[in-house]
This record gives sequence, C-alpha cells and structure tokens, in this order.
Amino acid sequence: MSLIPPHKDPMGTAIAEYHRTGRAGTLRVFSSQFDEDEIPVEQLFRTLDEMPAIEQRALAMARGKILDVGAGSGCHALAMQAMGKEVTAIDISELSVEVMRQRGVVDARALDLYDEHFVERFDTILLLMNGSGIIGNMEGMERFFYRMKQLLKPGGRIYMDSSDLKYLFEEEDGSYLIDVAGEYYGLVDFQMQYKQVKGESFDWLYIDFDTLAYYAEQYGFTAEVVCQGEHYDYLAVMTMNG
Ligand code: SAH
Repeated sequence: MSLIPPHKDPMGTAIAEYHRTGRAGTLRVFSSQFDEDEIPVEQLFRTLDEMPAIEQRALAMARGKILDVGAGSGCHALAMQAMGKEVTAIDISELSVEVMRQRGVVDARALDLYDEHFVERFDTILLLMNGSGIIGNMEGMERFFYRMKQLLKPGGRIYMDSSDLKYLFEEEDGSYLIDVAGEYYGLVDFQMQYKQVKGESFDWLYIDFDTLAYYAEQYGFTAEVVCQGEHYDYLAVMTMNG
C-alpha cells in the first residue's frame, strides 16, 4: 500500500470539504457483506467530549512520544495536543494530512504505516475507530506486529480498538450462527464513495479480543482488554514480551 491520490480518496475529499465549508454530503460505504451504509462526516471531526469512552480512555493513557496511525481529520491528535502531549499523526490520505496541518496538528505526515523508510520509535502507538482494520486480514498479522516491533520503544504500548462482529450472526435464541470452516467472520471488504470520487476496495479487519490475543501471542506481544464499549467494542492494550 502507499499514499492515496486525491482523485481516489472519497474520505479525504469529504474531510477536506467539511473542513472548508462546515458541511459535507454523504460519504457512502459499500461492502459485499452488508447493505449500503454511510459515515457521518461530522463524526470524523468529533471533539474529546463527543468521543466514545474507549477513545477518551486511550487518549488519557497515551504517554511519551505518541504515534496516531490513520489519523483522519486529526481529531485525536488535536485532543492530545490540547492535553500537552507530543503526537505524530500519519495517514495515507494526502487530503486528510493537509486538513490536519490546517487544523493545527503540529506533526502531520502523509505516510503509510507500512512504509519501511519510516523508522522512528514511539512510546505509544494509537489505532482508533476500529483501528484493527489496518491489519487488513489474517495474513496481515505478521506484517502488522513486525512493524509494531520496529516502531515501539522498549516498554512501549499499542492502544487499538475493535468490535466483535458476532452480533451480526446472532439467532433469535441468542446463539451465534458462525461458519467456523469459512473465512473469519470479522473480515470485511469496503469501498467508499463521496460524490463522484470512488475509492478502491480494501479489506478491513474487525476482530474479537480472544482472536487478537492469540495472534498477538504468536508474534511476541501480550494483549489485554482496557475497557469494553457499549456495543461489542473494546479497547485493547498490547505490549511486547521480553
Ligand atoms: N482515526 C481517525 C480516522 C479513522 S478512518 C478517526 O478515528 O476519526 C481510517 C484512516 O486510516 C483513514 O484516514 C485512512 O486513510 C487511514 N489509513 C488506512 N490505511 C493506512 C495505512 N496503512 N497507514 C496510515 N494510514 C492509513
């Protein structure tokens, strides 16, 4: 993966338009697994007070040199700067990074998490708003944790939120109908569109905590639940072993 050019960047276009005009049209989301949906663009500009409790918790716990991965409009980076914290915000959307700079994010960079030339080390790495999505799919686990090892200082921590999508498969009797022989049920493909701008389709991984903890262990990390959200979502903290 690399940077997304503006003409293929529906979310960045929506963010830039909302930043410029204070309003935006519909950011449409398509998936082969779900009905068409939309992301309320103003939600991407949420303030600390408007954030879900698990995000507020992650921001409160972030310390030292902080990396905000997939920072979008910069909502978390700005909230942490206001707390006096030192944040580097990265995103593959050049449009979003430009908006972050205009909004006052001190260190905003157009950068892919997986860009191997990026070699700084951080005390805290944040991946928020179903941040596990950036792992992409199960094959992406090894690459993800390898990258985390490269970017974390000794004793560093990763805060990542996700949702357990099992509720989508709940039967009337409260049991879950999940095909365990099939693909992992949290693996979703998305494609977004804003006005005439259509993005490429991409894999986005939602992961239940036990499965995350299993993979973390495989790649030398320990995962713990920091807190649960209101609807099958949770904040995890991961630390490197040894
Ligand atoms: N964290 C923000 C935005 C979440 S949307 C918020 O909570 O509002 C996910 C963001 O991750 C998008 O802005 C997308 O451009 C970015 N992104 C996706 N893959 C990335 C990667 N490999 N490296 C850096 N950013 C990435």
